[in-house]
Amino acid sequence: MKTFDHVVVGSGIAGLTYALKAAEKGSVAIVTKKSRADSNTAWAQGGIACVTSNEDSIALHVRDTMVAGDGLCDEEVVRQIVTDGPQRIAELISLGMQFDERTTPEGGKEPDLGREGGHSKRRILHAKDTTGFEIEKTLLAAVATHPGITVMENHMAVDLITTGKLGYAMQDSCVGLYVLDEASGEVDTLRTDVTVLATGGCGKVYLYTTNPDIATGDGVAMAWRAGAVVANMEFMQFHPTCLFHPKAKSFLITEAVRGEGGILLDSRGRRFMEKYDARRELAPRDVVARAIDAEMKRTGKPCVYLDISHQSTDFIRDRFPTIYETCFNLGIDITKQPIPVVPAAHYQCGGVKTDINGETTLRGLYAVGEAACTGLHGANRLASNSLLEALVVAHRAETKSNRNHLRQGIEIVLPEWRPGRVQDLDELVVIYHNWDEIRRLMWDYVGIVRTDKRLQRAAHRLRNLQTEIQEFYWNFKITADLLELRNLATTAALIVDCAISRKESRGLHYTLDYPDHDDVKFLHNTLLRRL
Ligand SMILES: Cc1cc2nc3c(=O)[nH]c(=O)nc-3n(C[C@H](O)[C@H](O)[C@H](O)COP(=O)(O)OP(=O)(O)OC[C@H]3O[C@@H](n4cnc5c(N)ncnc54)[C@H](O)[C@@H]3O)c2cc1C
Repeated sequence: MKTFDHVVVGSGIAGLTYALKAAEKGSVAIVTKKSRADSNTAWAQGGIACVTSNEDSIALHVRDTMVAGDGLCDEEVVRQIVTDGPQRIAELISLGMQFDERTTPEGGKEPDLGREGGHSKRRILHAKDTTGFEIEKTLLAAVATHPGITVMENHMAVDLITTGKLGYAMQDSCVGLYVLDEASGEVDTLRTDVTVLATGGCGKVYLYTTNPDIATGDGVAMAWRAGAVVANMEFMQFHPTCLFHPKAKSFLITEAVRGEGGILLDSRGRRFMEKYDARRELAPRDVVARAIDAEMKRTGKPCVYLDISHQSTDFIRDRFPTIYETCFNLGIDITKQPIPVVPAAHYQCGGVKTDINGETTLRGLYAVGEAACTGLHGANRLASNSLLEALVVAHRAETKSNRNHLRQGIEIVLPEWRPGRVQDLDELVVIYHNWDEIRRLMWDYVGIVRTDKRLQRAAHRLRNLQTEIQEFYWNFKITADLLELRNLATTAALIVDCAISRKESRGLHYTLDYPDHDDVKFLHNTLLRRL
């Protein structure tokens, strides 16, 4: 058994930010299931929303966030996160992060703020179109020089250990976790009073996603199994514009392309957004994704097109170098021709229910970043608010966890992992088949447009799949693939259950059976807890 003051699961912006701060006061382990830079964070393109200009205000950012959240944002949480933003950004800059700047008419420098859908002002700090990569690099460099942080790469958190599970009578608390060392196949036991889930989202639950392979909902699934409350999983954001090309896996075309004047066209080159929303291409993501979905269904074509070619070549190549390069290598010159795009699962607005300080309903367990549901996003996330939320809440969680530091008064010795009936997993094909089946059924039945019947069909299939996967889990030697499959199935089931219980359309949850809001019955979060 290894003991740390804090164990952070995940090495994206949320986990790294928390770890850097916590390491000033105690020992920290970062457990991360692939290499340390493997994260959604490293893929973020557009940037971070933050009020830094005199033409903008906290009130406007709060208002834009609340409008996008469609009635379900927690206003206090929104205001606090938006207000804390500038200070956290300043800290990031002091660590070496460089956001793009431009020259003012007076010859000085100011942030070159981008604009994205749903924002009434230019307020997106960015580093070209590789903002997340630069942030990840900056934070990892700081972590590398910190002696108080142990980074455990290729270590996958399996499950949380709680006093309840161990049979103690005290208030249920998280007291550690089991971690699979992917190289040796052994399971380590980590003892800690503060466990922080910073495991990111669950885009891989869907067949088409902008997310990297790590996004399998592990944190939400582990928290659920441990008895923490999970909220609002029905609100999955589909990014409207993922590159449609047989050789491009999960390549996102950032919202900023529309923010900089990109227009959406159908297969015959006709603009169509005005049919759906007065804000046209700058409407929030859910509106644009549904409009594209409707156009694809109407025309029977596999994609629509995003055209930025009316901007100058220099501007496009300078503002969107990665998108330009990637498309060019696939034979699409975006300075001259439109980009074929489709919607894809992008961001999990729900997650482990927390307060503004990342505290979950289970003592000793914190959740930060995309894995958490703080109340900032409500029923729909405003673009570029997620990196901001991760930064702010990670900071607050660290402050809170240090104040709360849990010493229980008794020394708890955690039992070693018991592997059960160990056999080699000789039926890998079942894992891959189930993995595919879940992702496809979620795409077909629990996607952008839902119905009761489709949700019921998904629930039925998921019940059977979960039974089969549980059997594997108990009978075979665990592997990272099997653990991810188990988490994927749990997360999919949580999404379906939340979606079934919301009998209205709101934000990202759209169902043909209840196409309108029902404020009387559903103006509240969807909360699920394992009994
Ligand atoms: C293509 C793309 C573009 C985006 N663009 C923007 C943008 O412009 N602005 C914005 O605000 N947001 C953007 N987002 C969303 C944003 O990137 C994420 O919400 C944010 O990075 C999440 O950070 P995180 O620290 O919570 O999780 P992540 O960065 O996803 O990190 C999760 C970490 O947890 C680890 N992990 C997961 N499960 C386990 C386990 N069981 N055991 C051990 N480790 C585990 C992973 O390996 C990873 O290190 C974008 C997302 C994508 C995919």
